[in-house]
Amino acid sequence: KASIVLYTSDLRLHDHPPLRAAVREAEEVVPLFVRDPGIKKVGFHAANRAAFLADCLGDLDAGLRERGGRLVVRAGDPAQVVRELVGSTGAERVHVAAGVSAYARNRADRLRAALEGTGAELVEHEAVITALPPGEVVPGSKDHFAVFTPYHRQWSAQHLREPLGAPRKLSVPSKVRSDGVPRREDVEGISPGLARGGEREGRAKLASWRRDGISRYEDLHDDLAGDGTSRLSPYLHFGALSAAECVHRARAAGGAGADAFVRQLCWRDFHHQVLAARPAAAHEDYRPRGDHWRTGSDAEHEAAAWREGRTGYPVVDAAMRQLAHEGWMHNRGRLLAASFLTKTLYLDWRLGAAHFLDLLVDGDLVNNQMNWQWVAGTGTDTRPGRVLNPLTQARKYDPEGDYVRHWVPELRGIEGRAVHEPWKRPREEREGYPEPLVDLAEGRDRFRRAREQG
Ligand code: FAD
Repeated sequence: KASIVLYTSDLRLHDHPPLRAAVREAEEVVPLFVRDPGIKKVGFHAANRAAFLADCLGDLDAGLRERGGRLVVRAGDPAQVVRELVGSTGAERVHVAAGVSAYARNRADRLRAALEGTGAELVEHEAVITALPPGEVVPGSKDHFAVFTPYHRQWSAQHLREPLGAPRKLSVPSKVRSDGVPRREDVEGISPGLARGGEREGRAKLASWRRDGISRYEDLHDDLAGDGTSRLSPYLHFGALSAAECVHRARAAGGAGADAFVRQLCWRDFHHQVLAARPAAAHEDYRPRGDHWRTGSDAEHEAAAWREGRTGYPVVDAAMRQLAHEGWMHNRGRLLAASFLTKTLYLDWRLGAAHFLDLLVDGDLVNNQMNWQWVAGTGTDTRPGRVLNPLTQARKYDPEGDYVRHWVPELRGIEGRAVHEPWKRPREEREGYPEPLVDLAEGRDRFRRAREQG
């Protein structure tokens, strides 16, 4: 008897219900990853994620080999590849993690159709990608929660299954060929400071985070220069770490920092349940407001300056340059940069979301689009009219200006918080750095007027 485990965004051995089920029920297991050219077609391919993915697949293969198995990698349409493997191995079951995006649902439908008549069945597992299955925590009368606080309350009261260990041994049918695991070295155009992927790396990071970071999280999570967040997002994005296990481990650590960290993981589940109920929100306004986002040559010029980290507002530019360099950005930076684009410049959130998806190693259709919508005021923010002032925010979250000096070398000569207002300094102290792109008050008024008319 054989079973197939189709890996997607769940590239791990620990706490993996599909793998556990397959190892239990079958003598032979095919751990399969399909490189799907469809991902490129829908524009979701990005160099940073391709490199991190290669790390994750390499590590998964190594972990499987230690247990007597190996990873089977194939290129092609997942439905066709799976059908062919069912034919050649006689597999009776195909296990896959349930996803919420339209893409993942479509893949599951196509898999089911491809298996028809083969005698094999598709088993979709919930709560592999999220801590709790989307749809498990619902308000009485509706299909999803549109507001975070009540969702968080109900989510926190739910029972979470105990994390599963990794299988000790498994056997892969020897006749199944693999196209080989991709390598990071073969990916071009990666951000120079990109983190290394893989389950082992993720587990080591989680362990050191529990030991050294989590207790200070509540105080440090908004401090841009302090860099006091877990940086686990790419491991969660690729499923090299299980969200449920992260919640368990954090709860076991205990304390205010752990509570605050678990709350952020709940945001991740929250956005998943919104998108699961409203898949169109990946591209369309969740709460349409009748926006007429600015377009035309001025708008294009401003969007380009924003992408390049040359808006003349140092904290926004620092965040955008961190993104380019690391393929990752601090959450406070993401909030500021997104608010600047959508509210101060009044440009369409989709422009910003697309640029983030080009670079973010944790770039995720669910979390990226839903957070962009939250900031733009078209999503689930209960105060959609709020505009973050980059100067006030900079003084609060980068009080000494260290984050800005780190990422904006042109301003390194300016000491202390004065770095946030370079336009007040003599020209020689800000050589090569642009003047502010817009006046903040003007931007804010334009957004408010547009809202009133909309
Ligand atoms: P920590 O502060 O250590 O938080 C722990 C984990 O909680 C994160 O790894 C993440 O999985 C989850 N989390 C934290 N905040 C959020 C949030 N607001 N929404 C959903 N999950 C959250 N996160 C992504 O994973 N992928 C994205 O594509 C993404 N795009 C974003 C775009 C914008 C405009 C904004 C404002 C936020 C975005 N986020 C995204 C959410 C958040 O910024 C990142 O998850 C976080 O910065 C990752 O760093 P960390 O792992 O150190 O987070």
